[in-house]
Amino acid sequence: MTATNQGLKTLHEVHQRLQAVQEDLTRGPRQIQSKKIAVDRKKTELEAFRQSLKQARMTADSKNLQLKTNENKINDLKTKLNAVGSNREYEILTGQIAADTMANSVLEDEILEALTKIDQVQIEVKQSEADVAAAEADLAKVTAEVSAREAGLQQQAAVLQAEVAKAEAFLPNDIVPQYRRAVQAFGADALASVQNRFCSHCNLQLTSQRMLELKGGKWMFCSCGRLMYAVADDN
Ligand SMILES: [Zn+2]
Repeated sequence: MTATNQGLKTLHEVHQRLQAVQEDLTRGPRQIQSKKIAVDRKKTELEAFRQSLKQARMTADSKNLQLKTNENKINDLKTKLNAVGSNREYEILTGQIAADTMANSVLEDEILEALTKIDQVQIEVKQSEADVAAAEADLAKVTAEVSAREAGLQQQAAVLQAEVAKAEAFLPNDIVPQYRRAVQAFGADALASVQNRFCSHCNLQLTSQRMLELKGGKWMFCSCGRLMYAVADDN
């Protein structure tokens, strides 16, 4: 392998290591973001349970009020009953008392139902509060892990950037602009090895003549835009 091919192989490898570190660096904020979304989702659920509890309490309160009102009404009717003047009036009053008493019995069932519902929703609210706390703890843990890892990764990236610059030093000036554009567009993928005459990026096959030239150290970009280098002594 010529110095050119060896140099390009090294440059490609350093680019790939740098890219792996850079990908690690972008992964951290993405992990944090997904944990934040999980916290928001749990908070939304909790809010829904709290609303449901509020609603159940309002229902129970309103039915209780209705029950009290009916009880007062029944007491009034009973008072009136003591002072009735006719059988007809007596029948009407006792009929009303019976109907209101029946209505109250239904209300009492409904109140019991509403109280049971309140108990259930209170359990759900408690569970949901625990879920929010767990999601928040998870977010805090991941945030701490990411930030602890970040300094080391930044340092590694800086070291690898310097290594890339060092590995680029042998590139001839007339190659540099096209190489820079390829790095801009493709990142670590700006270079491609050629094995058995095939570009490892796009699978284009080089002619035997071009392969000989590449192995001899000629600078060549593939039609896919990658700076090519030969890695094996095959043809
Ligand atoms: Zn190619």
